[in-house]
Amino acid sequence: MSARAVRKGYYGNFGGQFAPEILMPALIELDQAYRAFRKDGERQKEFRQLLKEYNGRPTALYRAQRLTQALGGAGIYLKREDLNHTGAHKITNSLGQALLAGYMGKKRIIAETGAGQHGVATATAAALLGLECEIYMGSIDMERQRPNVFRMNLLGARVIGVDSGGKTLKDAVNETMRDWSKSVRTTHYVLGSALGPHPFPTIVREFQSVIGKETRKQILAAQGRLPDELVACVGGGSNSIGMFDAFIDDASVKLTGVEAGGEGIRGTKHAVRLTPNTHARTGILHGSYSYVLQDRSGQIADTHSISAGLDYSGVGPQHAHLFEQQRVNYTYATDREALAAFRLLSEKEGIIPALESAHAVAYAVKEAPQRPNSYSMILNLSGRGDKDIFHVADCLGLSI
Ligand SMILES: *Cc1c(COP(=O)(O)O)cnc(C)c1O
Repeated sequence: MSARAVRKGYYGNFGGQFAPEILMPALIELDQAYRAFRKDGERQKEFRQLLKEYNGRPTALYRAQRLTQALGGAGIYLKREDLNHTGAHKITNSLGQALLAGYMGKKRIIAETGAGQHGVATATAAALLGLECEIYMGSIDMERQRPNVFRMNLLGARVIGVDSGGKTLKDAVNETMRDWSKSVRTTHYVLGSALGPHPFPTIVREFQSVIGKETRKQILAAQGRLPDELVACVGGGSNSIGMFDAFIDDASVKLTGVEAGGEGIRGTKHAVRLTPNTHARTGILHGSYSYVLQDRSGQIADTHSISAGLDYSGVGPQHAHLFEQQRVNYTYATDREALAAFRLLSEKEGIIPALESAHAVAYAVKEAPQRPNSYSMILNLSGRGDKDIFHVADCLGLSI
């Protein structure tokens, strides 16, 4: 069965447009504009050209020989999304949405950011395309991520501190939505992952689906057949759905999403939404119906992960659907496992992965040894780890 939306904006039971009345005109306009944009050959060509010449696509599919040998078992490939401009897959979505903003005649873009990665990607796209850019960021996150605040400023964006609630990502999303409801005539909201109200989950997936399309071509060229398994980390769900999309109808390809297990799933210090027996329940967060980590009274629960990009209580609605359909196998890696994988990949391949991506590597560390050599496993290396070295040093009790 196809996992694409049938009821408009829904993936099975999940998704929808649970947005305040005041945002509905913006969402309807966006939906219509995006339909026109995706059929506009000139615009699609422009997007492809930017991805190639500015972003450096296609990113390599690399056979990780030394990692494969070290683990013994499955042959491991890395899809090198870390080689994108600005160091992760996020720029692809930001570029696509910034082009879409221009297509709608909007001269200003806004975005939320947690650790600053999506903010930097969006500020980069704004600079490239000559758009005004404002980024909402929790004031606690601003304090923790000062280099990224400075980067966004260098790129010409204004960073607006958010002092409400917990002063982190969730609050930044709320503030960005509030801005958008007042500014929609001049402004596009560049949402950073495959979540939020329809049509965002679809838009973000389609922009990121270039990852899976390239991977399919590259693996067929490399081994003359489809891979046995694809593995990607799942925060909001964009790098994973972008990689899985081209393979969803190939029943022989196992798809594995790795969530942030934090300090383990017994307590609440994790961000595991799609594994049974956690405090995740179905519910509404940021405009769509999906699985959400909640406390006993249904309040959105705080999450914990060593990696900021996976540290979110909700998850994109298509993942909720793929989970219920059992098309994707969802699992998790703990902070400790991610940290070990971070070091292993650095030492064995000379590639320092983002802590988010290290969760996918951690899965391979556990599973690859149990597979035959003929089994091929592709890990989506969503980003590079330069941003994480100070945090890792802290966790290891080292100083830089
Ligand atoms: C933001 C981020 C993620 C998590 O976001 P998804 O939307 O789930 O892809 C993963 N990896 C990196 C490097 C990131 O920056």
